[in-house]
Amino acid sequence: MVATSNNNFYDLLGVSKDADEKDIKSAYKKAARKYHPDNSETGNEETFKKLSEAYEVLKDPNKRAIYDQYGAEGLKGSSAGASGFSGAAGFEDLGDIFSSFFGQGFSSGGARSRGPRATRGEDHTVEVNLKFLDPLSETKKKIKLNPLVVCSSCNGLGAKKPEDIVTCGTCAGVGQVSTVQNTILGQFRQTSTCPDCRGTGKKIKNPCGDCRGKGQKRENKEVEVTIPAGIFDGATLRLSGMGDAGTHGGPPGDIYLYINVEENPTMKRENADVLTEIDIGFAEAALGGDFDIKSLEGSEKLKIKAGVQSGEIITLKDKGFPVLNNAKRRGSYYVKVNVVTPKNLSSEEKKLFKELQELRRNKDIKV
Ligand SMILES: [Zn+2]
Ligand SMILES: [Zn+2]
Repeated sequence: MVATSNNNFYDLLGVSKDADEKDIKSAYKKAARKYHPDNSETGNEETFKKLSEAYEVLKDPNKRAIYDQYGAEGLKGSSAGASGFSGAAGFEDLGDIFSSFFGQGFSSGGARSRGPRATRGEDHTVEVNLKFLDPLSETKKKIKLNPLVVCSSCNGLGAKKPEDIVTCGTCAGVGQVSTVQNTILGQFRQTSTCPDCRGTGKKIKNPCGDCRGKGQKRENKEVEVTIPAGIFDGATLRLSGMGDAGTHGGPPGDIYLYINVEENPTMKRENADVLTEIDIGFAEAALGGDFDIKSLEGSEKLKIKAGVQSGEIITLKDKGFPVLNNAKRRGSYYVKVNVVTPKNLSSEEKKLFKELQELRRNKDIKV
């Protein structure tokens, strides 16, 4: 259970302070799905936002180090959680959507006591699976949706003809019914939604056969979405207004795309940067040279200078992934050099190594 009152990032994600990147990522994914506002049972927008904020920080080793040392205060002014696409992308916009459809009075409530209430359509989520290299460029993906749409047979009316919609007899079109209770304290009047018309004040004589009077029906749709270059695993993208249609003039819901990016066995991605390794022999390390390595674009020439030490990292600038929302910029491709000590020497090799050893000893060189 995520404690909403606790703002400790580790507690929020339910991981220990020494959790590794993988644990943090999987804890976030699990919790994000649980608390995503789309989840009708356990969704909680506030908690979801906090989770995303925590993840933004803990997934980034630099931000995490600052957080560990100084707490959330230390990150103020940095861009933690502020980037447009990451985590809770676009949730701040929800208020705008509401106000644009309902005007100022909507959230304060109470203004509409009569008639059916405008209800926003439901949000839905779709998982999008990408290959490791897909984020190199913008990706077009076809996704299948099945939203509630306005019934085309009756234009959302729910009836075959407009004349088939009549005033509800039970509530005389008010949408509410009152009951009067006599108690020892006096008379109480209780008002509730009309059970016959469910508050609409209208009844349908001849329901539309296509939507059974609902005015909406599910429709299979395939849409092409554009996933921006530089997208990363665990990101959420919002397709505004692509969810279920609203009712009684309410706005449509949204579609949230959960992005999964495949991992690569030899290339480790960190935001826009990539870290890989290369094994070279003793002689190669001593002499240096050009090596062919795998890169994101296929292959790349890696220049290793003579005398490279094991563990040294060579940086290939601008050979990483594009930076999300700034695709002209690219991350770095880091190559860690591992110098491999030869084993199982043949007698000739042994002889050569000994000669080399002697040569260097005579020159009083220790290594
Ligand atoms: Zn009624
Ligand atoms: Zn219909």
